[in-house]
This record gives sequence, C-alpha cells and structure tokens, in this order.
Amino acid sequence: MLCTLCSSVSESFCEDKKRQYFRCTVCDMIFADPDTLLSQAEEKLIYDYHENGPDDIGYRKFLNHLAIPLMDKLSPGMEGLDFGSGPGPTLNLMLEEQGMKMSVYDIYYAPDTGQLSRQYDFVTCTEVAEHFRKPDKSWAQLIGLIKPGGWLGVMTCMFTKETADVFNLWSYKGDPTHISFYTPKTMQWIARQFQLRIEIVSDRVILFKK
Ligand SMILES: [Zn+2]
Repeated sequence: MLCTLCSSVSESFCEDKKRQYFRCTVCDMIFADPDTLLSQAEEKLIYDYHENGPDDIGYRKFLNHLAIPLMDKLSPGMEGLDFGSGPGPTLNLMLEEQGMKMSVYDIYYAPDTGQLSRQYDFVTCTEVAEHFRKPDKSWAQLIGLIKPGGWLGVMTCMFTKETADVFNLWSYKGDPTHISFYTPKTMQWIARQFQLRIEIVSDRVILFKK
C-alpha cells in the first residue's frame, strides 16, 4: 500500500473489525485502508450529530488550546480562514472577538470555494486533518492558502505511542470518520516537505510558519 501523504511504501500496522490500517515507513503517517472509507453522505450524517457551537463554553475552552498560542503570533486586523469550520462555526467567532477578520470554508457546511482562491495571513484547521481522504492534496491546498510568512494552526490528536495494540484501543481511532493519523514525525515531515517552520505546542496542537 502506498502512503496517502508521501506515496512511499507503507506496511500493515493493525486491523480491527471494520478495516485495516497502514503505517508509512518514511513519513510515519498511519491511515485507514482507502477502500474502507465511509461515503460522503454517511460521513456528513455523523457530522450532523456534532452539537458543538459558539454557546458551548466547553467547546470554546477546547478550541483555546489552539487559539491562545496562535493569537501570540498574530496581530489585530489580520485576515484568517477557518478551513473545515463544521456545523457550528466557533473558532472564527473567537478570533473575530480578538480583532481578526475571518472567513470560513467547509466542504459540507460552508462550501463557497471562492474562499479558497486567495491567500490569508493565517489558516486554522481544527479537528479536520484526521478526516483527510487525500492528505497529500489537502495539506498542499492548506499551505497554498497561506501568504509567505503566514501561520497555519492545526489541531488533531497525534499518535505518540509506538505499538499497534495501543493504537487499536485508542478512542480517537474509534471514530469511523477518522482515517488519517499523524505522529510528531509525520508533522516534521510535512514541515520539511513544504519548507515550513514547525512548533509542536502539545500532542494536539501544531503551529506551522510559512
Ligand atoms: Zn508517508
């Protein structure tokens, strides 16, 4: 199986009742067998049940894990895009409250592709990269949306253990819409590949500077 991020040879990593997972020998990406993915309609049905929104204090607190370190890099008046804003856009509002000018894009809930035809001072992508069906294309697209010198703020749970046993029991992997998993090594690979500076803030928050 070829890696969905870097096209290198990947080895079988583990298997559960639903599907097989592969791990790349070069970029360390772990990905679900592309033949076992849900249809887009099935996937959207699951997203429709997500009830997070701007009135949810807990959700705001969760998003602050990215917003606070990212805000440190930005100045008021900067223009940003929240890529994959989901059914209850919230991070864009939080950043607007901090003086940013925000646009949103979401393949299902805000599908105006006009937002993807320009560049921004920064792009946020929270709980989205684990859903990428074609990570090679999606990461290139994300990075293409950022002006030189701009920032990309990503939130996705990285897999920081080694063994397939631990991966198999990982709750993050249990969501059938989660199909692309990154390790710190994968994030470093992305930074090198696209010539970005990387700051790994935590197991869940990564900042890239173009
Ligand atoms: Zn790879």
